[in-house]
Amino acid sequence: MTAPATVSGRPAESRLLALAGNPNCGKTTLFNALTGLRHRVGNYAGVTVERREGRLRNSDITVLDLPGAYSLGARSPDEEIARDVLLGYFPPLPQMVLVVVDASNLERNLYLVSQVMDLGIPVILCLNMMDVAASAGLQIDVDGLQRELGIPVVPCVASRGEGLARLVELAGAELPPPPTRRWKLPEREERAATTLASTLQSDGSSEARTALFKALTLLCEDNADERLLKGLTPQALAAVRTSRTELGESLSEIDSVVIESRYAWIQDVCDRVCRQGEIPITWSDRIDRVATHRIGGFLVFFALMALMFQAIFTWAQTPAGWIETGQGWLGEFATARLPDGDLKSLVVDGVIAGVGGVIVFMPQILFFFFFIGLLEDSGYMARAAFVMDRVMSRVGLHGKSFIPLLSSFACAIPGILATRTIEERRDRMVTILVAPLMSCSARLPVYTVLIAGFIPQERVLGVFSLPGLVLVSMYLLGLVAALGMASVFKKFVFKGDTPLFLMELPPYKLPSVKTVALQTWERSSEFLQRAGTVILAINILLWATMRFPGDATQHSSERLRNSIAGHAGRILEPVIQPFGMDWKVAIGILGSFAAREVFVSTMATVYNVEEDDEDKQSVSVRVQMQSEKDPNTGAPRFTALSAVALMVFYVLALQCASTVATVRRETGSWRWAAFQWVYMFVLAWCAATGVYQLGRAVGLS
Ligand code: GDP
Ligand code: MG
Repeated sequence: MTAPATVSGRPAESRLLALAGNPNCGKTTLFNALTGLRHRVGNYAGVTVERREGRLRNSDITVLDLPGAYSLGARSPDEEIARDVLLGYFPPLPQMVLVVVDASNLERNLYLVSQVMDLGIPVILCLNMMDVAASAGLQIDVDGLQRELGIPVVPCVASRGEGLARLVELAGAELPPPPTRRWKLPEREERAATTLASTLQSDGSSEARTALFKALTLLCEDNADERLLKGLTPQALAAVRTSRTELGESLSEIDSVVIESRYAWIQDVCDRVCRQGEIPITWSDRIDRVATHRIGGFLVFFALMALMFQAIFTWAQTPAGWIETGQGWLGEFATARLPDGDLKSLVVDGVIAGVGGVIVFMPQILFFFFFIGLLEDSGYMARAAFVMDRVMSRVGLHGKSFIPLLSSFACAIPGILATRTIEERRDRMVTILVAPLMSCSARLPVYTVLIAGFIPQERVLGVFSLPGLVLVSMYLLGLVAALGMASVFKKFVFKGDTPLFLMELPPYKLPSVKTVALQTWERSSEFLQRAGTVILAINILLWATMRFPGDATQHSSERLRNSIAGHAGRILEPVIQPFGMDWKVAIGILGSFAAREVFVSTMATVYNVEEDDEDKQSVSVRVQMQSEKDPNTGAPRFTALSAVALMVFYVLALQCASTVATVRRETGSWRWAAFQWVYMFVLAWCAATGVYQLGRAVGLS
């Protein structure tokens, strides 16, 4: 046997470097720059919720992007994760922490730094956003800060890559010693904390590294972390009790003493190293005078939204037409080549008509995400959240809840995941319960097919097009319903105050077309993937339920009526009749319980299956719906009124299996998921019926 050989003579150093920092300090930007990985960069707090890891360029150092946290107090799931990693509950323990701070907000950011410095791990400070600090007239004495903290401090502008080289160098250099604690408690508390820390350490309840941090937690929190309590010996528990009695203060008093002591020190440091010079007025400020104005802000917001939806509608028409034509060719081609029978029906009705019916909406979805991306990357979305904070506070939530709601415009699932940044469980639950009311991209196909088919291309007030306005109204309806329901839940189910929401507005910048295009593609390709997989599978299944049990001698519409789907549709028919729908639409609604966009493809299949085999052609579902007649009266089946009623139903109903599964996972109970589904269905049914019946009563058709 030979001894194991090492190539380089000594083992390469492999080290874990954790990135910590407040939300929005540029952590993800820095992470991407350090690792060269491609990641989404949003402009608002709370995008980072997952664990993200990468390799530092040209090295053996692993970089871990911790979730954004204002403190290690574990007030939100995000902060909890950050704390647990640094305490070593989620091994491996990082050998070094790179704390990123926003230099323009040094005082608030240093709070987390002071906590991380107490954990006995070597710390480097990245003083990021130096450009923002400079434009705010703030001068920071970097050397002075380094002396005050006793750790290396590197000034950076992460978004422009400035300062990165020095960070990489420090990350790979010999580990500096862990920092020493610079802040002090008042004498009595200081003695209690250090005594308790040494007890924890000497009886093995804690390693030396984290003893003080744990002692402070035990003194301040009654039911501190279970993992912490479980590790305690009976002597240690007794010592905790003694120290508390000796201090004779309530837990919250001790807690405030600790917080104040940290801030007193921070204040001191800032007084010594920061100078406030003249504040130059930037064009960003000038724009904000309008964009965040009490009234102007709303006008700008709604104007931008109206413009966006109108543009989506008009610009997407041409490429959507090409897709429709392509689909028509493909259908004809398959019809001509395949022999009559089940296979032909499967390919033409199930696959081409079904999936094609969904893919037609790709242009709209691309435009939608492109605009949203532009608004995000330019910095406007943060202003939208700021403007909406005023509305949100009316219903008892704050702007923090608006961000998940905003993401839900794309898809409720990331929206629901984004609620993890909300500290109050009550607020989080309310936000989860209403998030799916926001119109997601899967509803867009449903809206579009109904609007294109039944809302006349008229102009309103000379500038707005009626279809565009109807589309905006659907989005607004979802928003209003979400706010209304939030206020109901907040009033009757999850009562309680909402903590103050503080938010920074990043300066405006010209959006990068490359970033936005990439992001647009990432988000919308998911839609395409769904069309090619889940939707395709559901469609084939639905096609089968529409085709079987079948009697080939029957007229095809008779055959559809007697199929499994036909039976199911007729059972549901009485439920949806009050808003003007029949059993065929019922098949579409049933199909879309799995995913909303399936409605369109199902309707395409319904009408295609129904046609006789000989003259089969894959006509666009819009045209088919337009020509559909009521068999009794011969009147058109869909009118502008019933199309609007159906859209209203889709705005409000929770027709999405993946969302239900996500809610169940995030709330930990089927009860809430079921409750949400039921309340949304009832709401949707009542609203759709109300619209339809009211419309009829006033003579609309
Ligand atoms: P995180 O929440 O800490 O992960 O923050 P992000 O990395 O998502 O950054 C938030 C925003 O700040 C993004 O729009 C970045 O482009 C921007 N940003 C990051 N670093 C800097 C910087 O040094 N200067 C400026 N002006 N912007 C930055
Ligand atoms: Mg981030």
